[in-house]
Amino acid sequence: MAKKTETSKCSFCGRPASMSEVLVPSVDKPNTFICAECVEAISSMLSEYRHETKGSGAADDVKLDSVPKPKEIYEFLDQYVIGQENAKRYLSVAVYNHYKRLAQNSGDDVDIEKSNIIMVGPTGTGKTLLAKTIAKLLDVPFAIVDATVLTEAGYVGEDIESLLVRLLQASDYDVAKAEKGIVFIDEIDKIARKGDNPSITRDVSGEGVQQGLLKLLEGSVVNVPPQGGRKHPEQRMIPVDTKNILFICGGAFDGIEQKIAHRLNTHVVGYSTDPARQRVQRDNYLKYVAPQDLKSFGLIPEIIGRLPILTNLEPLDRDALRRVLTEPKNAIIRQYKKLFEMDGVELTFAEDALDLIVDKAIEYKLGARGLRSIVESIMIDAMFDVPSTDSTSFEVTKEYAMEKLLKANFETNKIQ
Ligand code: ADP
Repeated sequence: MAKKTETSKCSFCGRPASMSEVLVPSVDKPNTFICAECVEAISSMLSEYRHETKGSGAADDVKLDSVPKPKEIYEFLDQYVIGQENAKRYLSVAVYNHYKRLAQNSGDDVDIEKSNIIMVGPTGTGKTLLAKTIAKLLDVPFAIVDATVLTEAGYVGEDIESLLVRLLQASDYDVAKAEKGIVFIDEIDKIARKGDNPSITRDVSGEGVQQGLLKLLEGSVVNVPPQGGRKHPEQRMIPVDTKNILFICGGAFDGIEQKIAHRLNTHVVGYSTDPARQRVQRDNYLKYVAPQDLKSFGLIPEIIGRLPILTNLEPLDRDALRRVLTEPKNAIIRQYKKLFEMDGVELTFAEDALDLIVDKAIEYKLGARGLRSIVESIMIDAMFDVPSTDSTSFEVTKEYAMEKLLKANFETNKIQ
C-alpha cells in the first residue's frame, strides 16, 4: 500500500494532502492516491449513470406474488404493535396497494395512484413503530424525518430535498433501492398553516414547506445533495425519483378534536337526529377524523389530496400499556430478559411489579414512551451488579421496583 507523505497528492485532481479530508492510497501502486472529494464526485456520477441506465424506480422487478397480502401484513404488525386495529388495517391495505401499483404494467390504461398515508394520534401511541415495522416486513430502505426541522430552515427548498438524504443513506446510496423505500415524516402537524383562512392569517413558512413537500409526495425527480445540507457546495446532486416512494406521515394534531367536534356537532344540530351520532363521546372524537378536519387544522388541500389514506391511533389505556410492556415481539421486558440471559441469568418480574411500572407511566403521564425509562431506572443497579455475581436468577418484586424508583427520584418519600 502506498505510504502518504507531506507531498502526496490526489492522482486524479492533484489536490494536496493538506487540502483534503483524507487521501486514500492505492492498494498496489506506489505513490498513488485518491482524495475524498474525488471519491464523492465519482460516487455521485456513478449513481447518476446507474439512474440513467437502469431507469428510475426499477419497479419492474416487483412481483405481486412475493408481496404479503393485507391480512399477512396485519398479522405481522400485530406481533409488534398493541391495539391500533384501525391503523393496522388501513396500513396493510395501503401498503399492499402500493405494491400493486409498483407491479402494474406501464402500458395499463388505468393508472393506480399512490397511497401515501397520514396517521393522526397522540404522541407515543405507535405511529413511528407502525411505519418502522412495515419497513422491516418489506425489507425496503426506511427513513424517519422530522417535519419540524423544515420550518426552522431559511432555505426551505433545499431542506425539503434533504428529506431524501436519509433514505439514500439507508440504502447505501443505491438510488434504485431508495426509490422504492418508505419515508416516515413525523410531526407533519407542525408545518400546518396557523389558520384556516389563508388570506387573513397567512403563515408563509408553513405553507411554503407544504408546497415543497407536495412536489415530493406527488412524485417527481428531485436533486438530492448526497451529504445533505449546504456544507459542500461543490458536491454533485443525486437525482432521485419519488414516484414510487411511499410516504407515511404522522402527527399528534393537538387540538384537532375541537375541529372534529365542531364539524360533528353542527351536523347533529343542523341535519341529523341519528342517535348514533349523538353518542359520540367527547374524548373519542379522533376516530371521526376526516380530511376536512386536517384542512381546518391548517394543511393545504393539495397536501391532503396527496395523503389519501387517513387513519387514527387511539390513546393507550392502562390495559394496552400493560400489554406493551410484555407482549410485542421485542417488548421492553423481553429485551431486559435477553440482556440477563446473555449473562446466564434468568430475569423475572412479579406481576405486581409490572402493574407498578404501568401505574407510574400513567401517573407521570409518560405513556408508552415512559415505560422504558421507568424500567431502566429499576434495572440499572441489577445490570451493574448481577454480571459480577454467581446468580443464575433475579426477580424484580414490587418492593424492589419501588425502592429503585425512589432512588432514581421517580418518587417522593411520601409514596410507600
Ligand atoms: P409516536 O406515535 O409518537 O410515533 P412511537 O411509535 O415512537 O410513538 O412510540 C414510542 C415507543 O412506545 C415505541 O418505541 C414502543 O416501544 C412504544 N409503543 C407505543 N405505542 C405502542 C403500541 N401500540 N404497541 C407497542 N408499543 C408501543
